Amino acid sequence: MEWDESATLLLEKVPPFVQKKVRDKVELLAREQGKELITEAEVIAAREAFAGNQNKLPQIETKNAENSKLSVLKKYQKYFDAQGNPVLYQVKSCRGAEVNCPFLIKDSEVLSGKLREKLKELHFTDRLIDKIEGRILPHHTMKLAVSGCPNSCSLPQIKDFGVHAVEPVFVDTESECIECMKCVKACREDAITVKDAQVSIDKEKCVHCGICARVCPVGTIKASEVKYRVMIGGKVGRHPKFAIELFSQADESTVLKALEVCAEMILSSKEEHRFRTLVEQQGIEEIKSKI
Ligand code: SF4
Ligand code: SF4
Ligand code: SF4
Repeated sequence: MEWDESATLLLEKVPPFVQKKVRDKVELLAREQGKELITEAEVIAAREAFAGNQNKLPQIETKNAENSKLSVLKKYQKYFDAQGNPVLYQVKSCRGAEVNCPFLIKDSEVLSGKLREKLKELHFTDRLIDKIEGRILPHHTMKLAVSGCPNSCSLPQIKDFGVHAVEPVFVDTESECIECMKCVKACREDAITVKDAQVSIDKEKCVHCGICARVCPVGTIKASEVKYRVMIGGKVGRHPKFAIELFSQADESTVLKALEVCAEMILSSKEEHRFRTLVEQQGIEEIKSKI
């Protein structure tokens, strides 16, 4: 999309590491409004819509937002989209792809987009508004996070639904190890042993970051297909708890199905419990059996 000079100057004032993100967001908003040229006005409108001053939300005036149930959430822009419609879930991605992170296994924003789509398809926001009696509070909204590697910078372990990419590795005995020890040096978990050209990986220690496969010059250690670790029921607050592992290595369709099951648990629960309580009441094996 074309940017005029004044819009380009405004973009250049943004810190370099967030310029791509800002550019994408400005263009997204402009496209939604049917515009083909980005001017200063589009940048300012996008800044207000996305960065926004939380005390000033003039654009959040839709029918739903007028509902008194949303009176508390209306103080925060993050619970509304650019058009002012309520969105009662937040999906946080790590910035691995944006900053060319050396640990990146898979761009977290790709899966984040699909998780948002799934919740939209389930009409999660409208159904949650209907279900909750009285005012909706921030803790009623569903929190999700996706990270591009096990380093988990978007904190999936403390979200209702958290995911990080994994790249499982294996030893290919057909490719002879040359004992360069690059894998041993690269593994932060001290999970690799090389002795007399025999390579072994301690499965208890390995976190499936895939680094050893990337540094092995002869392909003795190889990476398998990218998968996702899925964790549910994490929370902070008065009694913080880490999320419980649902799957250690799930494919994308399983992740989406798992989200559907978890979202339905929230929407169908009779009591207004935190999601962690629902997970503990049902048990992880029972939840797994529905996926
Ligand atoms: S989670 Fe991994 S890929 Fe994402 S920013 Fe952190 S280290 Fe990089
Ligand atoms: S995948 Fe990562 S944690 Fe596992 S053995 Fe290789 S470098 Fe170590
Ligand atoms: S990096 Fe590959 S070749 Fe080098 S020691 Fe490890 S497995 Fe062997």
